[in-house]
Amino acid sequence: MVETTTRVLVTGAGGFIGHHLVNALKNNGYWVRGVDLKYPEYADTVADEFEILDLRRWDSCLQATRGVEQVYALAADMGGMGFISAHHAQILHNNSLINIHTLEAARINEVKRYLYTSSACIYPEFKQTDAEVVPLKEEDAYPAQPQDAYGWEKLVSERLAQHYHQDYGLETRIVRFHNIFGPLGHWDGGREKAPAALCRKIAVAKLTNNPRVEVWGDGEQTRSFCFIDDCVEGIMRLMDSDYDEPLNLGQDRLVSINQLVDIIAAIAGFEVVKVHVAGPMGVRGRNSDNTRLRQILGWEPQITLEEGLEVTYKWIEGEVRARM
Ligand code: NAD
Repeated sequence: MVETTTRVLVTGAGGFIGHHLVNALKNNGYWVRGVDLKYPEYADTVADEFEILDLRRWDSCLQATRGVEQVYALAADMGGMGFISAHHAQILHNNSLINIHTLEAARINEVKRYLYTSSACIYPEFKQTDAEVVPLKEEDAYPAQPQDAYGWEKLVSERLAQHYHQDYGLETRIVRFHNIFGPLGHWDGGREKAPAALCRKIAVAKLTNNPRVEVWGDGEQTRSFCFIDDCVEGIMRLMDSDYDEPLNLGQDRLVSINQLVDIIAAIAGFEVVKVHVAGPMGVRGRNSDNTRLRQILGWEPQITLEEGLEVTYKWIEGEVRARM
């Protein structure tokens, strides 16, 4: 382990990516303050300090950003398609307040580097109408037409970060995640995303010996999925780089939701019957163009979908079993 005196704030440290990021930063010798509305739900935090704060509030943001050199801004009111397609006003309101106040507080407290976590949801709907989608390059963001309020807010907050860089000299980094998955994230309750939701449904099917698994829509919608360890490595590399434009971070292997079900069922060792039901599907197809990621970081995600799902499925099956 390399000891460093750098003091870092992770917002959203009680959430899925934030919790894993805190672990990785601690393993690399950083001093870490985590902030969130809640403690991590599935494992204890190893942060040096963990403060329960509501970052929609200006005074909380000033407190959170005091005495740190770097901020990883992950806090957001978010979830999978089911959540973001049904809570537009809440998401736009809460996330705007969080990002406007956290960034300004970072400037006032003279933070040196600020990494903002954006999303592939900023990309325009008109470029994602086909399951065999052309992978999205960073410049495809404009002309803008994100599908949901969640994506519009992310796009505006990206611009805010860029203007803080141009106008105030704050060193900003902007990452656009493409479907991050892994253990220790929401797997039920309404905020879970497709990989976790499908792992849960297949675990329930297996443990109750009922092969029927519900899939939203026809299941032919496509995405790429990136394992959490690659995500964390990517954002730490980006923070250390000198690149201040938005950058994709994801895998570039396109799979349909039906294929995702088949991969998870094979890992579970249980044959399932897909039952297609009405439900939000999001855009028809979305993939990451990683050309710039490779150029800038000299690296790209390494962990295969099967390897990542193996770990994720095992964890979720254990959670489901424990609840039965
Ligand atoms: P998550 O929901 O697990 O974590 C977000 C955390 O922010 C939660 O713990 C939540 O309690 C916290 N939070 C919400 N409102 C807050 C507030 N007012 N004050 C303080 N904390 C607050 O989500 P995640 O998957 O870990 O996502 C982290 C970041 O990455 C988010 O900004 C998200 O939009 C972005 N992102 C994630 C993905 C993905 O696939 N997981 C994809 C694109 C972008």
